Amino acid sequence: MNDRNNPQKPFSRRSFIQTAAMTAATLALPGCSRNEKPVLTTLTGDFDPLRSYPYRGWEDFYRKIWTWDKVVRSTHSANCTGSCSWNVYVRNGVMVREEQAADYPRINAELPDYNPRGCQKGGCFTEYVYSPQRLRYPLIRTGERGEGKWRRATWDEALTMVAEKLLDNIYNYGPDTNSFFSVIPAMSPVSFCAGSRLAHYIGGVFLSFYDWYCDLPPGEPLTWGVQTEACECADWFNSKYIVLWGSNISQTRIPDAHFAYEARYNGAKLVCISPDYNSSAIHADLYFRINPGTDAILALGVAKLLIDRNLIDAPYVKEQTDLPLLVLPGTKRFLRESDLKNGGKEDIFYFWDTKQQRAVPTPGSMGSEQKTIQLNGADPALTGTFQVQLAHGNTAEVTTVFELLKKEIAGYTVDRVAERTGLPPNEIELFAKELGTRKPAMIIHGAGTNHWFHNDLSNRSLILLVALTGNTGKNGGGFNHYVGQERIWPEQGFFKLAFPETRKKQRFQNTTLWSYVHSTNKDPHLYNGKPIEWYIQESVKNGWMPLWPKNGRKPRAFVVWRANYLNQAKGNEILESSLWKDLDLIVDINYRMDTTALYSDVVLPAASYYEKVDINSTDCHSYIHPFGKACEPLFESKTDWDIFHALAEKMAEVATRKNLKPFHDDAFDWTRDFTQLAHDWTGKGAIQTDEQAVDFLLGNAEETKGMTYKQIQEKPKRFIATDPESWNSDIEEGVAYTPFKHQLEKKRPWRTLTGRQQFYIDHPWYIELGEALPTFKEPVAEKYPLYWNTPHGRWSIHSTWRDHRAMLRLQRGGPIVYMHPDDARKRGLQDNDWVRIHNEVGHCVCRLQILPGEQPGRVTMYHGWEKYLGFKEGGWQSLTYIKIKPTQLIGKYGHVNFRLNYWGPTGNNRDIKVEVEKAKV
Ligand code: SF4
Repeated sequence: MNDRNNPQKPFSRRSFIQTAAMTAATLALPGCSRNEKPVLTTLTGDFDPLRSYPYRGWEDFYRKIWTWDKVVRSTHSANCTGSCSWNVYVRNGVMVREEQAADYPRINAELPDYNPRGCQKGGCFTEYVYSPQRLRYPLIRTGERGEGKWRRATWDEALTMVAEKLLDNIYNYGPDTNSFFSVIPAMSPVSFCAGSRLAHYIGGVFLSFYDWYCDLPPGEPLTWGVQTEACECADWFNSKYIVLWGSNISQTRIPDAHFAYEARYNGAKLVCISPDYNSSAIHADLYFRINPGTDAILALGVAKLLIDRNLIDAPYVKEQTDLPLLVLPGTKRFLRESDLKNGGKEDIFYFWDTKQQRAVPTPGSMGSEQKTIQLNGADPALTGTFQVQLAHGNTAEVTTVFELLKKEIAGYTVDRVAERTGLPPNEIELFAKELGTRKPAMIIHGAGTNHWFHNDLSNRSLILLVALTGNTGKNGGGFNHYVGQERIWPEQGFFKLAFPETRKKQRFQNTTLWSYVHSTNKDPHLYNGKPIEWYIQESVKNGWMPLWPKNGRKPRAFVVWRANYLNQAKGNEILESSLWKDLDLIVDINYRMDTTALYSDVVLPAASYYEKVDINSTDCHSYIHPFGKACEPLFESKTDWDIFHALAEKMAEVATRKNLKPFHDDAFDWTRDFTQLAHDWTGKGAIQTDEQAVDFLLGNAEETKGMTYKQIQEKPKRFIATDPESWNSDIEEGVAYTPFKHQLEKKRPWRTLTGRQQFYIDHPWYIELGEALPTFKEPVAEKYPLYWNTPHGRWSIHSTWRDHRAMLRLQRGGPIVYMHPDDARKRGLQDNDWVRIHNEVGHCVCRLQILPGEQPGRVTMYHGWEKYLGFKEGGWQSLTYIKIKPTQLIGKYGHVNFRLNYWGPTGNNRDIKVEVEKAKV
C-alpha cells in the first residue's frame, strides 16, 4: 500500500527485479558476511519492513480469520479408511476451519508415527457443511422420482408418513418387505446402530454393503475363514519387500502412503503392479504395467517359479497350510475320517507323516479335538502319492494338495505368463526371486484387482504367494487388503448396540443377490452351461444364501442412511426401472442431496460429521477417536441417533393410535409390540443420547474397556486388547498390529474347515467349475473393445466431495474419461471432446482427457460422480450390470457360510467393456 504523503511509482515487475537484485547485492557486500549483522540500507518503499503504514486495520481483520472460541475434535465418515483425527475451530457458533489433530501416540520410537493424518477432502469439510448441497429441512417429493421437485415438510409430517408406511407393510405384506441399507459401521457405529436397531426391532431386512461394493476380498473368507484381516499401515515400514498390487496408495490411502515410501529408507524395495502408470508407480523400484484382469496368471506363474526354484518356506507350508493334506484323486475330495472309518467324521483330514509312513489326522481341523495345529514332531509330506485303506476295505491312492497345485500351475510357464500379462519374462523371474528371498514381504492389495469377476481366484492366488514364502502372520509380511473401512475394532460392543436381542434374530441379506433378483438385471452368460438363475435357485433352496422377502414377494420400503445406494448401484437405469419402481416408499437420511436422496420420496436432513457424537476406527491404524459436536446440527437437521429415536417414537405413537395388536414374527417366534418400540429401541430407556450409545459400545468391547467418550475427546487412544473371539493377533505394546500371530506363534487353528490356510475347496460347485484350487480364468467375455475402469479417485471419497467446489477446481470440474493417445487417435478424438461411452447396457456422455499413463484398450473414469453432476446423459453406472459368480453363492461348507459382509456374492464391475465415440452435443 502506498503512503499518500510519499507517493511512489506503482510497483512493476521491472522494479521488483531491480530491488531484488539490489537486495542480493547488498547482502553480498563485504561487511554483510554471515558473521556480521546485516544492515538494511537499500530497502525502501513497499519493501521496507520498518516503515509504518497509516492504515493497518486490514491486518487485524486478516488475523481474526484465525481466531476461535472453541476447538472440538472430530473426523469424517465417508468410508475412506483414513480415520483421521481433526480439530474443528468454531467462532460465534460457526465452524470456520479444521486442522489435523496430529496427536496420535507413537507405537515405538523406530516406527514413523501417524501424525499428521489427513487428506485434502477432510481439510475442506467445513466448507461442505455450509454448501448449497446441504439438506436443511425434511422434504417430501412432489414430482417424479429424480425430478427434483419437493416440498418442505415438518419433522412430524415426514416421520408420520414413514412410520405409517413401515407399519402398514409389516401387517399387510410382512416385516421382510421393509429393507434397510447403511454402510461401514466402523466409520460411525452409533449412526449405523441407530437404524440397525430399528430394523432389528421391527423385523426389517438388513442389507450388506461390503460385498455389494465388491470391497470384500472373497479369497479371505475362503482361505482364512475371516472377513478381511490386514496389518495396520505402520507395519508397512517393517517390510523389506512391498508389492502394491492393484492399489494406488498415493491416491486412495493418502494419510498412510508415507509408510510404504519411508520403508524404502528402511531397506524395502517397492513393486507396483497396475495397468496404468499412476502416482504410486512413480515410487516403485519395479513397475509392472500388467494387462487388465491378468493378476492371477502372474501370481500363479510366480508361484510356479517359487516352487521350481525351491524358494518356498517348507516348514511353514507344512504347518500352516492345507498343501500337505491328502486328496482322493477320483472324487477330488479331501481324504476324510469318514472315508477311513465307518461313522468317521467329515471334518477330520489327513496328511502323510514321513516319519511314521502313514496317514495321520491333521490337528486343529473343525472336527479335531486338538485345538492346536502344532505338528508334535510329525513331518507331513508335501509331495508324493500314497496308499490308504478305506473303510469298506479297498485301498486307494491319495496325493497331496501340493501335488495337485503343481499340476494345476504347470502350464503357467514364464513365457506364457509374459505373453498374457504383457510383462518382460526376465522381470517376472526377478520378481519371483526377490519375493522368495527378501523377508518379510507383503502384498498391499486394492480394488484394482479385487473388483474383477474372478476376484476370489485372484485373491487366493495372491494369498498363495505370501503363504508359500512364509510371510503371513509376521510383522512386515502378508496379504493386506484395504478397500473400505469395514473392520470395526470394538466389535462385540458394536454388535450389542446394533442388534441387541442377538444377531440370530435379524433378517440379513446379501445386497448383490437382493438387487439382482428384485430387478430386471440379467446376466446373459452361462456358467458350465447353466444360467446364473439356476445357481441362485439352488443356493436359496439349499439354504446357502437367504433371499428376503420370501416366496416371490417384492420389497416395498427402502430406508437408506450413511450411504448412496443408487450412486453405487451396478446397472443404474435397470434398477431404476424395476426394483426402484416396485418400492412404495424410499426414505433417504442424509446431510446432502446426493443421487439416492434425489430419487427418494422422503428426505430427512441429518447432522454432518462435525455436528454429532460418535466414534471412528479403521484397519489402517489401531486407535480410536471421536466425532464431536462442534456445533448443534444445522438448520433442522438431527443426528442419526435422534432421527431413528424420533421414528421409533412415532411408530409407537401410530401403533397406539391405530390400536395395533402385537405382531407375531414367525421366523423368530418374536412377538413385537410396536406400542413399546421406543422403549425397546432405547434399551428400556438406558441409551437415550449419542454419547450414552458411545459409552455403551466402548464399555462392552474388550478392545476399549474402561474408555469413555470424554477420554477419547482428549486424545486418540490405542486399543488395549483384542477379543480372541474375533481377532487373530494380540495388540502388543510397542508393536504394529498384524494379523495371524495366534496361528503362527500360538499355533491356534485357522478359522477354516481344515484348521489351516485352505487353498483347496472341495465343495462340489468348486470342483465342477474347476476352481477347487487357485487358477487363472479369463475375464468374462464382453463384446466391446475397451475395459471400463472405475477406480477410487483422488478428489473424492466415492460420491462425497465429488461436488465440492474446491475439489472440482483441482480437476476439470466435471466427469471425465481418460484414454490412451493411441486409442484416441484411432477414433479421431481430441482432448476435451464430448464423448459418448456405450455398450449393450447403456451409455453416458462426458468429456475426454487423453492420458499417456492410461493402458491402451482401457478407459478410466474415477467413480462416484453423481448423475446430476455434469454428464450430458447417463452416468458412470449406466454401463454396468450385476454379474453374480456361482461359486460365491455356496454355503454350509465348513467355514464358508453366509454371513453379512463376510460371505456372499460380490458386486464386481471390472469385466465390463465399452466403446467410445465422439458425441453429438
Ligand atoms: S476424508 Fe478420510 S482420509 Fe481424508 S482426512 Fe478425513 S478421515 Fe482422513
